[in-house]
Amino acid sequence: MQNVGRMNRAPITSGNLIWSRRTLNLTPHFTLEEMTFSEVAARLGLDNTPGPTVTANLKLVATFMEKIRTLLCDKPIVVHSGYRSAEVNGAVGGVATSAHCHGLACDFVCPAFGAPVEVALAILKSDIGYDQLILEYGWVHVGLAQEGLLSRREALTKRSPWAAYETGIKA
Ligand SMILES: [Zn+2]
Repeated sequence: MQNVGRMNRAPITSGNLIWSRRTLNLTPHFTLEEMTFSEVAARLGLDNTPGPTVTANLKLVATFMEKIRTLLCDKPIVVHSGYRSAEVNGAVGGVATSAHCHGLACDFVCPAFGAPVEVALAILKSDIGYDQLILEYGWVHVGLAQEGLLSRREALTKRSPWAAYETGIKA
């Protein structure tokens, strides 16, 4: 009986921890869970838990994404990737200097607003102060500048995993 009791308690505790992480809203429409979820990390058992600096950065990104959501007529945004630990970034073939590793980037789509190119063009035409805006092959990447650095407001297009970056947002 004693063993059964112990075994019952452990999952409940870990369940609560998972629950609180999943439902921790960084801002009204973005949670810490969606900004740190990584399918690759889950599949390969890699750690993608953010430290305090990254968590603070993710809050900045979420606040930034609220501006983008407003720009996109308040349509729901689906986050593909936010924070990626160095391990996870390496596993997905990300650039070593990726803003994702600092929790300062977000890959997303907004199907109810339009295709990624339409989303990227809307952000390009806005006064939203991104550091990098990249139309990727199937989603949009936005990155913020690290603290103390000026935003470059750089817009690029990458048509495939193998393609070079082109300047501007190209359909
Ligand atoms: Zn990205």
